[in-house]
Amino acid sequence: METILAIDDSAFNIHTLTSFLQNDYHIISAQSGKEGIQLAMQHLPTLILLDIEMPEMNGFEVLEELQKNERVNRIPVIFLTGLANIETEEKALLAGAVDYITKPYNQNIVKARVRTHVDSYLYQKTIENELLLDVLTGLHNRRSYERFMLAKWNDALVNQTPLSIAMIDIDYFKNVNDTYGHQEGDRILKMVSSTIQSALPKYNNYVARYGGDEFVIILPNVYAEEAEQIVNKVCQNVFNQSLPNIHSKVCDIVTISIGGATTIPNECEYLLNFINSADEMLYKAKAFGRNQVVWKK
Ligand code: GH3
Ligand code: MG
Repeated sequence: METILAIDDSAFNIHTLTSFLQNDYHIISAQSGKEGIQLAMQHLPTLILLDIEMPEMNGFEVLEELQKNERVNRIPVIFLTGLANIETEEKALLAGAVDYITKPYNQNIVKARVRTHVDSYLYQKTIENELLLDVLTGLHNRRSYERFMLAKWNDALVNQTPLSIAMIDIDYFKNVNDTYGHQEGDRILKMVSSTIQSALPKYNNYVARYGGDEFVIILPNVYAEEAEQIVNKVCQNVFNQSLPNIHSKVCDIVTISIGGATTIPNECEYLLNFINSADEMLYKAKAFGRNQVVWKK
C-alpha cells in the first residue's frame, strides 16, 4: 500500500482526508509544517497533501523546504486550501504543486486526484528505475554507473574519504559463446553477475554491468587493502562456481580478471584518470595470466 502524508494544522481536516483515503493508502499525518517535513524525510511518501494556511510555517514555505532536499523534492505535492481564489491557485501551481484541491472536500474528487498523481509518480519511478538497470543481468547499467561514480567521486572529494573502484572482465568469454552458443553465454553472464553481487558486503554492494562481459564495482569509503580483500573474494567465488569454459586458455572453467585502484581525490586529480588507472590494472591482470586481481600500488 502506498503511503500518503497529510500535513494540515486542523485535526478535523486530517480526519476527513484519512477517512476518504484509508482504504486505498497508508495515511500518515502531521499538524505542522516542521513535523510534516520530518515525516516526509523519514517515510518518503508517494504523495503529500499540504494545507496552505497553517501557523508558523505555511504550505508555500513547507513546499520550498521540500524542494531544497534531493530525497523528497520529486514527491508530488497537492495543495489543500479553503482559499478558493484564482491568485492562490496560480501561485500554488507555479510554486511546483502538481494539483490544488479546495475545501469543502468532495470525496470522489479527492480520491480521483490522489489516484491520478500516485499512479503517475509510480509510473515515473518505474521508468526511471528501468532506465538504470541492465536488462540481461538485472544489475545497474552503464548509465547508472556513470551517475553513481560521479556522485561518489564528489562525496569523496568533499569529505576527503577513500574511494575504490574495480573493473572486472570475464576471461575468454568469447570462447563460451563459441563453444556453447549465445544463449548459454547469456546464462553464464547472469550467473557471474549474481555471484559478483552476492560476494560483496551488504553495506557496500554497488556493481554495474559496464557492457559486454565487463563489470565495475564501486566501493566508497573503502581503503585499498579492504577493497583488495573484497574483490579477491569476488574472483574466488566466480572460480568456485565452476561454470564451464572448456576452451578457455586459463583452465576449463569460467574465470575473471580484476583491476582496481583506490584514491582520496584532490582538486588536481581527474575522475577519468582514476578510472583509467583501474583499467590499466585490468590489462595487467590479463597480461599476467588472467584469473587474478591486480591493485594499483
Ligand atoms: P579476454 O580474456 O581477453 O577478455 O577474452 P574475451 O574472449 O572475453 O574478450 P572479448 O572482449 O573479445 O570478448 C567478449 C565477448 O563477450 C564478445 C561478445 O561476443 C561477448 N558478449 C558481449 N555481450 C554479450 C551478451 O550480452 N551475451 C553474450 N552471450 N555474449 C556477449
Ligand atoms: Mg573478456
